[in-house]
Amino acid sequence: MKISVIGTGYVGLVTGTCLAETGNEVVCVDIDEEKVKRMRSGEVPIYEPHLDVLFERNIEAGRLTFTTSLKEGLDHGVIVFLALPTPEEEDGSADLKYVLGVSEEIGKLLKGYRVIVDKSTVPVGTSEKVKEAIGKHASHDFDVVSNPEFLREGYAVDDFLKPERIIIGSSSDRATELMGKLYKPFVRSGNPVIVMDEKSAELTKYAANAFLATKITFMNEIANFCEKVGADVDKVRIGIGTDSRIGKRFLFPGIGYGGSCFPKDVKALHKSGRDSGYEFKILQSVIDVNQRQKTILIPKILAHFQGDLKGKKIGVWGLAFKPETDDIREAPALYIIEELLALGAEITAFDPEAMENVQRKMGDRIAFADGMYQPLENADALVICTEWGVFRNPDFTKMKELLQDAVIFDGRNLYDTDEIRSEGFGYYSIGRGQEG
Ligand code: NAD
Repeated sequence: MKISVIGTGYVGLVTGTCLAETGNEVVCVDIDEEKVKRMRSGEVPIYEPHLDVLFERNIEAGRLTFTTSLKEGLDHGVIVFLALPTPEEEDGSADLKYVLGVSEEIGKLLKGYRVIVDKSTVPVGTSEKVKEAIGKHASHDFDVVSNPEFLREGYAVDDFLKPERIIIGSSSDRATELMGKLYKPFVRSGNPVIVMDEKSAELTKYAANAFLATKITFMNEIANFCEKVGADVDKVRIGIGTDSRIGKRFLFPGIGYGGSCFPKDVKALHKSGRDSGYEFKILQSVIDVNQRQKTILIPKILAHFQGDLKGKKIGVWGLAFKPETDDIREAPALYIIEELLALGAEITAFDPEAMENVQRKMGDRIAFADGMYQPLENADALVICTEWGVFRNPDFTKMKELLQDAVIFDGRNLYDTDEIRSEGFGYYSIGRGQEG
């Protein structure tokens, strides 16, 4: 099939590449000329495991091409995916200017029947607005489908190739049939393609993200309470996770959720509620607790250094909002670093993939290390913000030699508390009893 994807970020590029992998001819459109130039020269502009192999293969086969021309995209694909940003507005709502702006342009460019598929995460009722925006100028038939994306950064290719479910929000048989055909190769193992109305599809995405953010936040509150009463959240986590109604996943406490989705999606759902006269009390709490959780290590660090961080050298491991991505949007590490800098500390950071992005944002306000052990050289402490696999089993002897003061503030509970202390480290983590 001939497919076009508008927007080649984490969602669009993975969508385009994976659809090309099943034999479709895909044209990817992006407004960012520099990005399109890089992709045309064979460079993957984001870090996402396994994407490079598929990307190269499909470019070579001529099934995956890139352009800045929306017209080219519209002329090519019978199915046109919108994978455009829906960032947070000041009042928390999702900004639809990219989605609706492109939709208007699409209306002007339509030359024949097209299925316009919204893959961006958008509030309930957006497909109606997209229809109106296209319809203003369109002189050809078109359908609008809501097809929310559930891929996780870091596992995006696997998630796209083997989705647990596909949600199709559509009221057109013709569009539903085309979408079913397109996705058939991805659900051969029997995972469902669930067809529903557009509004329910749009809400399914927000409900899923808000539920997961709530689950994480609930565990963070349990962890904070564990610290008050001397319980160990790891034991509680295993204790409750074995209950199949609860499940083992998304129960790990830490320094809060970040990224490009959970924070903005929880806020957008909360705001949608308000706009419709419904107060999502639970979501307000999730937003507040998560904000506090991002810097929950700061009081521990301050207490350890008797309230004075001026001139203290702090090494930071992990900048990305989670492992296996270079995405730093709303990353807890950045909030911690800002507070540490404000308190007078000097920061040297290491992240396997995200340093360039942070350097672009923070410039030379912090130093970036060549390798994971460099931030520890003569440092007064190590702060761990992201659970990259490489931090899980490091050379503790080398770490102790390099650190001036062998103390670790671990925002991701990477180490066994007894083991790390027997290695000779001072150790602070989240919700696990005795500290220091
Ligand atoms: P992104 O910011 O990584 O990428 C968006 C891309 O769109 C950029 O390359 C940008 O240059 C391009 N763009 C902007 N305006 C354009 C225009 N007028 N024409 C063509 N291209 C344009 O965003 P993302 O992370 O891929 O997210 C896209 C949507 O998918 C959002 O609604 C997001 O909430 C949702 N989503 C994201 C994820 C994720 O893990 N990142 C997962 C599921 C859903």
